[in-house]
Amino acid sequence: MNNQATDYTKALWYPSSSFDERKEAIKYVVIHGTWVATTQIALNDFLCNPEIEVSAHYLIDEQGQVYQLVLEEKRAWHAGRSKWQQDELLNHSSIGIEIQNKGEEVGEPYTEAQYIALQDLLKDIMLRHHISPEHVLAHSDIATDRKEDPGTHFNWKKLEDHALAAPWHVKAGEPLEVLRTYGWHGTDTDIIKAFQRRYLPEKVSGELCTETRQKICGA
Ligand SMILES: [Zn+2]
Repeated sequence: MNNQATDYTKALWYPSSSFDERKEAIKYVVIHGTWVATTQIALNDFLCNPEIEVSAHYLIDEQGQVYQLVLEEKRAWHAGRSKWQQDELLNHSSIGIEIQNKGEEVGEPYTEAQYIALQDLLKDIMLRHHISPEHVLAHSDIATDRKEDPGTHFNWKKLEDHALAAPWHVKAGEPLEVLRTYGWHGTDTDIIKAFQRRYLPEKVSGELCTETRQKICGA
């Protein structure tokens, strides 16, 4: 294994052995929340623990320090069973970024330093791999039946305002049809919840309420 990260030059190299060969081109970035108490737990007990077999390419701690765990050219194991548009098992085609956070129930906001570091890292990755804002996704977008991270307390606007994630624009059509065409997979409830987590975070009900319908298709 290389003893130095070669991709994002501002990262500290903190290698994980949980990866294998990538067999598809990089086309997505997947954003995660670690949802454990500390960065040390996230790194040592999970992402760099060979017995757990999970990893990500990057982790950003509360102070905005970026750690690189896996080289981008390798396949890190962060997405699990996943699907977006016609693509399945997104570990093959994505770069995974974990952001240290204690979780939705604890309710501590992601820090300003984390957003600044994430913006910088995303800009760099998206330029090098020609990734569009539409292909920067939440773990909860690609595994709607089992994942909620980075959660409703993650502020997507901080990415959207810099063209680092896609804002939602009203799209004509039947709401669920619109969401499925855009990319989400799953049951009606799970798809609506995934949409709400991204674009109506104070309304995650899984119900197609008037406000959700308005937001999706303007009617
Ligand atoms: Zn995740």
